[in-house]
Amino acid sequence: MTDPRRAIPRTDAVLAEPRLAKAAESLGRELVKSLTLAAQERARAGEIGGADVVDEVLRTLPETGASLRPVLNATGVVVHTNLGRAPLSGAALDAVVAAGAATDVEFDLATGGRARRGRGALAALAAAVPRAGGVHVVNNNAAALLLAALVLAQGKEIVVSRGELVEIGDGFRIPDLLTSAGARLREVGTTNRTALRDYADAIGPDTGFVLKVHPSNYRVTGFTSEAAVAELAGLGVPLIVDIGSGLLTPHELLPAEPDAASALAAGATVVTASGDKLLGGPQAGLILGDAAVVERLRRHPAARALRVDKLTLAALEATLRGPEPPVRQALSATAGGLSARAEALSDALRADGVDARAVESAAAVGGGGAPGVELPSAAVSLPARYAEALRLGDPAVVGRIARDRCLLDLRTVRPDEDTRLLEAVRRCG
Ligand SMILES: *Cc1c(COP(=O)(O)O)cnc(C)c1O
Repeated sequence: MTDPRRAIPRTDAVLAEPRLAKAAESLGRELVKSLTLAAQERARAGEIGGADVVDEVLRTLPETGASLRPVLNATGVVVHTNLGRAPLSGAALDAVVAAGAATDVEFDLATGGRARRGRGALAALAAAVPRAGGVHVVNNNAAALLLAALVLAQGKEIVVSRGELVEIGDGFRIPDLLTSAGARLREVGTTNRTALRDYADAIGPDTGFVLKVHPSNYRVTGFTSEAAVAELAGLGVPLIVDIGSGLLTPHELLPAEPDAASALAAGATVVTASGDKLLGGPQAGLILGDAAVVERLRRHPAARALRVDKLTLAALEATLRGPEPPVRQALSATAGGLSARAEALSDALRADGVDARAVESAAAVGGGGAPGVELPSAAVSLPARYAEALRLGDPAVVGRIARDRCLLDLRTVRPDEDTRLLEAVRRCG
């Protein structure tokens, strides 16, 4: 006789189990079926009992139909590219869910006719930077630069400092992006020093525009100099300023970080920026500046290929008009508040017998800007072996390893996530 616990239930029987039938309704029958087949396979291999198949499927059910797993960012890197950059605010998430259904993104409910796509998000952006005569939103900052090169410099030259030829990440480089649009680069100055004269000498009939790029992921220190936006604005050719990080106005804690309003006030023709770095919104490319130039960018045929989805427009508007998004909260958290949280969490874990202690830490803004800026922070320090267990847990928690300890930096964890963090650590005990 075969052991009844080893008997593997039939697929139909598993799928008929009420909790799994419900999951099949929300996630799709195919997904639940594939998890069922995997669980049956494990039972056949003797890794689990036949009676455990339903539980195994329930355990492996994802929260949503997408394979993207939710992660608690305890790295201390505020804008973490590999973790999806800016987490959206609750207001932005609600807006995304509402806009996911049919919505009036390009429709005037009063007249029943067509309306300007994304007018609410564009109005919010214009209101946030009143000095911008025109605003437009594309897929990301790279798309904004591509569009500027296509419209203003195809077959012409872009004058740019050798100190600002930036690689964005994953092997993509701004110089290559610009030349792919049919522009030629006219590099001026040196890696560490570029003067106004260098730009002025390079400008001629072939100039499409002067480009100033903010080195947002590295810093050149020592014997350095660069020309200011206000100086470059006087050269008599369009000046495009890529500020990168997406600060719309100055931020008191990041005085060296450029912002759109100041760059426009200093005379930039157009400013480009990312939506998902220090602005704390969805992936997007923000274009702000001279009304006529922005209109030309908006009407270029390629603009259609770079346009944003309604979900992005919804999230962007809610970020601009709504409460402080998580990125901004993470920046403004005080070191005292963070260490109080680290103490409380460590105390609770030590009471459970976990080798946990609160330590000082240094957080960073990340690829999103402010290279070299250290944000004083606090972390829960655990034995290094926790790192892997936490990454594989649910929710996944990503910390960082320092001196053979696993540090969970609280600057990038929202205070209302502390309980989830605590429970995730307990489950690894
Ligand atoms: C991040 C960054 C980019 C690329 O922006 P995406 O929105 O990721 O396309 C371009 N320029 C600078 C200066 C940046 O910091």
